[in-house]
Amino acid sequence: MPGTVNALVPLSLLEAVRSIDTPEGDDVEYVQEHRNKRLGLSDTVIAQIRRYKDAMKRGQEIVVPEALGISKLIGRRDDADGIFVRGGTGVAASMYELIPFSQRKLIHLLPGFAGRPLAFNQLRAVTMRYLGGTVTKAGSSLVLSVTESATQGSAPRSLGCTYYESALREMLKLLVSGSGMIDHPRCLDRGDGVCEWRAEWRTSKVRS
Ligand SMILES: [Zn+2]
Repeated sequence: MPGTVNALVPLSLLEAVRSIDTPEGDDVEYVQEHRNKRLGLSDTVIAQIRRYKDAMKRGQEIVVPEALGISKLIGRRDDADGIFVRGGTGVAASMYELIPFSQRKLIHLLPGFAGRPLAFNQLRAVTMRYLGGTVTKAGSSLVLSVTESATQGSAPRSLGCTYYESALREMLKLLVSGSGMIDHPRCLDRGDGVCEWRAEWRTSKVRS
């Protein structure tokens, strides 16, 4: 039995393809002309996006091989890097919106020592629910682990992993204005049993 991922994962990947393939402005002729050449503008992709949105509403999960198929299509493109980054940023924005508004408000209103634990709990919850990943703390770092990756082996040089890395980066930015390096010390594409990312999770400094 293959594992499953939340429909938000393939949805965010296809929406990234669509947004990158959509020309700027309202050049209808251009869209018509490129519809067949650009995957993101094809009727198939539009229909799939609708299907995943419905699946999300119904709480229906998608089997990993299906999501992987989308990642592999992306992985073959020259602009794969940008699409995975866009997909990760997009999934994070959606996950952030899915955190109850009252919680988001508290996280930003409370001082760091009280807001950070709340942010951590919400990050952990949405990451588990939507990305199927676990978030833990290790010293001053935060570790995201994914064993059932929807982008595993989809592109050379672990490029597909950029999706999760971008998602983590954007979530930290939205929740705690986080920034900084994210390392990827363990990777399914390199034969490890897990993809693991490490980001800085500093305890807030006391303001004088
Ligand atoms: Zn990886």
